[in-house]
Amino acid sequence: MNELFLLKLGEIILKGANRRVFEDRLKSNVGRRMRPFGEFKVNITQSTVYVEPLNDECDMDGAWEACGTIFGVISMCRCRGCEKDMDAIYRTAVEYLGDDLAAAKSFKVESRRADKRFPLGSIQISQEIGGRLAEAFPDVEVDVHHPDYTVYVEIRDHAAYVHGPALPGAGGLPTGSGGRAAVLLSGGIDSPVAGYMIAKRGVEIECIHFFSYPYTSERAKEKVLELARLMTKYTGKMTVDVVGFTEIQEAIRDNCPEEYFTIIMRRFMMEISERIARDHGAQCLVTGENLGQVASQTMEAMTVTHQVVKTMPVFHPLIGMDKEEIVKIARRIGTMETSVLPYEDCCTVFTPKHPKTKPNLEHVMKAEAKLDREALIERAIQNTEMVKVKFYG
Ligand code: ATP
Ligand code: MG
Repeated sequence: MNELFLLKLGEIILKGANRRVFEDRLKSNVGRRMRPFGEFKVNITQSTVYVEPLNDECDMDGAWEACGTIFGVISMCRCRGCEKDMDAIYRTAVEYLGDDLAAAKSFKVESRRADKRFPLGSIQISQEIGGRLAEAFPDVEVDVHHPDYTVYVEIRDHAAYVHGPALPGAGGLPTGSGGRAAVLLSGGIDSPVAGYMIAKRGVEIECIHFFSYPYTSERAKEKVLELARLMTKYTGKMTVDVVGFTEIQEAIRDNCPEEYFTIIMRRFMMEISERIARDHGAQCLVTGENLGQVASQTMEAMTVTHQVVKTMPVFHPLIGMDKEEIVKIARRIGTMETSVLPYEDCCTVFTPKHPKTKPNLEHVMKAEAKLDREALIERAIQNTEMVKVKFYG
C-alpha cells in the first residue's frame, strides 16, 4: 500500500448535533488544498481525515506541507497502510520506519486497536512488534518510559497503519465554518497575526488597508499586499480593499488639535471599515490592537476609537498577549520578515508629539467637529481599490 496521511480532527470532536457540518467543511477544504499536488482521495472516519494519493504522480511532500496549514486538524502523521496481520505490520514497520529506527538511541511501540475484532489487544500488539523490532535492531534499546523514538501501530476498520511520531496540525476550526471578518491590515507585525488568529477560528477573512499616498509610498502598499499574500497560506485567497486616506489625514492635520490627530484618524478608519465590511457581508472587524502597547491602545483610547462602530463587534485577538508571543507567531506563520521591512504606515504620518493617552469622548468629538465626516467618508470609500490576492503557493 502507498503512503498516506492521517489528519486527526481537533475541536470538531467536541461538537454535538452539527459535527457533520464541520466535518463536511473540513473534508472539502482538505480536498481543495490537495488539488495542486495531484489526485487524492479524502474521507473522514473515526475522527480522522484520510488523505490517500490515487497514483504515483502525486507530490507527497508538497501535499504534506499544505496539510500543516489546514485549520481543524490537531495533529497529523504520514503513515503506511498494510493488511491487518502481524507479519505484514512488522514488515511495514521495518521497511517504512527502519531508517528512523536505526538512527534512534531507544524506542518503543505504541498500539491502538480501533477495530475491536482484531484478535490481539493493543498491549499484545506492542509487545510482539516491539520484540521483533528489538531483535532486528539490536543496537537500539527498548525504553518504554522515555523512548527516543516511538513506532505507532493503529488497527482500524479497513487496514492497519504504521507511523512514527505525529506532528502538530494547524489547530482551530475549518475555514468557512465561522462566518466572515474584515481585518484592518497595516504593514506592522501585529495585524497579520491578528488576522491569522481569527482565521484559525474558522473565519473567512478579507483585509482593509488605509493608504496615504504620497505620505506613504507605493512600496509600503506593496508590502501590505505581500503580507496578505503570505496570510493566504492559511486563509485561502482573499481581497484587500485599499482605501485612499490622504484627504482625511490632511483634513485632520488642517482642522484638529494636534494631540488628537491619531485618535481622530483611528475613528475614521473604524467607521470606514464598518461600512466596507457591511457591503461585503463581513460580520465583524478585527484589529491588531494590544492593550497598553501605544498611546492609542489604552482602554480610554479604545473606547473612543470603537465608539463609532455601531453594527458589529470589533475583535482584537492580540489584546492580552505580550509582544514576544506575537513575534513568535509572526515568525512561525512567515509574516515577520516582511512586517519588519522599514516602510512607513499612515499611522506614522502626522503623529502628534504628545498624543492624549486618556482621551475623553466629548473632547474628541469637539476636536473633530469642524470636519464634514460624512462627505470625507463617502469620498474615501469611493476612492477604494479592491485588490484580489491570489493563493500563496
Ligand atoms: P500593527 O503592528 O498591526 O501595525 P501597531 O501595534 O503598529 O499594529 P497601530 O499602528 O496603533 O498599532 O494600529 C493598531 C491597529 O490598527 C493595527 O493592528 C491595524 O489593525 C489597524 N491599522 C493601523 N494602521 C492601519 C492601516 N494603515 N490600514 C489598516 N489598518 C490599520
Ligand atoms: Mg502599525
